[in-house]
Amino acid sequence: MENLPQNDNVYNQIPQPIRRSDGAGGVDRGPRDIMRDKENANMFVPPITDAGLLPNLKFSFSDTHMKLNQGGWSREITVRDLPIATTLAGVNMSLTAGGVRELHWHQQAEWAYMLLGKARITSVDQAGRNFIADVSEGDLWYFPAGIPHSIQGLEDGCEFLLVFGDGSFSDLNTLSISDWFAHTPKEVLSASFGVPEAAFSDIPSDQVYIFQDQVPGSLESQKVQSPYGTVPLSFTHSLLSQPPLKTPGGNVRIVDSSNFPIAKTVAAALVEVEPGGMRELHWHPNNDEWQYYLAGQGRMTVFAGNGIARTFDYRAGDVGYVPFAYGHYIQNTGDQSLWFLEMFKSDRFVDVSLNQWMALTPRELVKKNLNASDELLNVLRKEKWPVVKYPGYAYEP
Ligand code: MN
Ligand code: MN
Repeated sequence: MENLPQNDNVYNQIPQPIRRSDGAGGVDRGPRDIMRDKENANMFVPPITDAGLLPNLKFSFSDTHMKLNQGGWSREITVRDLPIATTLAGVNMSLTAGGVRELHWHQQAEWAYMLLGKARITSVDQAGRNFIADVSEGDLWYFPAGIPHSIQGLEDGCEFLLVFGDGSFSDLNTLSISDWFAHTPKEVLSASFGVPEAAFSDIPSDQVYIFQDQVPGSLESQKVQSPYGTVPLSFTHSLLSQPPLKTPGGNVRIVDSSNFPIAKTVAAALVEVEPGGMRELHWHPNNDEWQYYLAGQGRMTVFAGNGIARTFDYRAGDVGYVPFAYGHYIQNTGDQSLWFLEMFKSDRFVDVSLNQWMALTPRELVKKNLNASDELLNVLRKEKWPVVKYPGYAYEP
C-alpha cells in the first residue's frame, strides 16, 4: 500500500481500491462516498476473476423516489432504474393502519410477498366471484392480469413487495376507480348507474391512489356474499409456513403454479442462507431471475460466458438481476442469515445445479475436461442441495 500512512488509524479504517492478492490498484484520495465503498466491497476491489462488460445488475430501493401519501408510501424499481430487468418490475409499499391502496387494476398480473404486518385484500373476477382475505408476514397474494383489487393495512399497518410481469410497469400507471370516475362525464355515470348526477357531486376530482381510512372490522363482518361464489383458485398462499427444503447451509421454499395454482406467471424461491453458507453455483433454464434481498448481506458473481463475469454486493432492500441462463452463486458475507427471494416470469421454478450436472456426467469426461482432481470428483453430489455449507467467507480485498 504505497503512500498510505500505515500507522494512521483513520486511513486504515478507510477501504482503499487495492487488491491484496496481487497488489493491483492504489490509494483513492479523491472525492468519494466511503459508506458506499464499504457496502460495495466486491465492486470497489473486484475479485481477480471478474472481467469484461456486464451491465449493472443491482439497484437499491434506497436509491428510488419515495411517493408519500396520507395512508402510506411506495417506491418502485423498473427498467427506468435497472434497464436490464425487462421481465419483472417491483414495488415496495407500506400502508398505515387503515391505509388503503385504492380499488384498481392493471394490464399485468400482481404477485406479492408480505414483509411485515397485516393487510386485507379484496378482489372480484370476471365471473363475479369475489375473494376477501387477510394476509400477514410470509404470505403471498396473486391477482391475475386485469382483475380488480384493493389492499388495506390492518392494526399496526403493513409493508409488502409487489412484483409485476413486465419490467416497464409502473404502479403510478394503473387503472383506478377514482381516476375513471373523475374522467367520465357525470351524465354518463348517471345513465350507467341509474341515479341522478347529484349522486356524484362529491367524488374525487383525480386519482386517489392511497388514502387514509379507519381500520376495518373483522373479516367476517366485511364478507360480501356473491351469488356466483368465491374464486375457484385461492388468491393467497402462506409461503413462510410451507415446510422448507432443509440443506446443510440453509433452507429453501419454492412456490409456483404447482403449489399455488393461480400464480401462473410468477415462480419464486424464498431462500435462507445461514452464516457460512452459500447458494451453490447454478443457473435457470427458463427465464431471467429478479431478486429481492430481505435480510443480511451477500455477494453474487454473474458469469456471462466468453470470459465475462462481474461481482456485486447486496443487502436488505436491494434488487438483483440475472439474465436468462447466466451462471451465478450467492454467498452470505455477513454474520446473520441472508434471506432473499428469487423470482421468475414463469409458471415453474427450475434450476440447474453445476454440482449435480457434473456428478451425473461420466467421471472420466469431467476429469479430462477440467483436469479435475479425484478429491473434487469424489465429493460431487447426485442430489441437489441448493444451499451448501462451506468453511466461511474468506475473501478479503
Ligand atoms: Mn395492484
Ligand atoms: Mn438463481
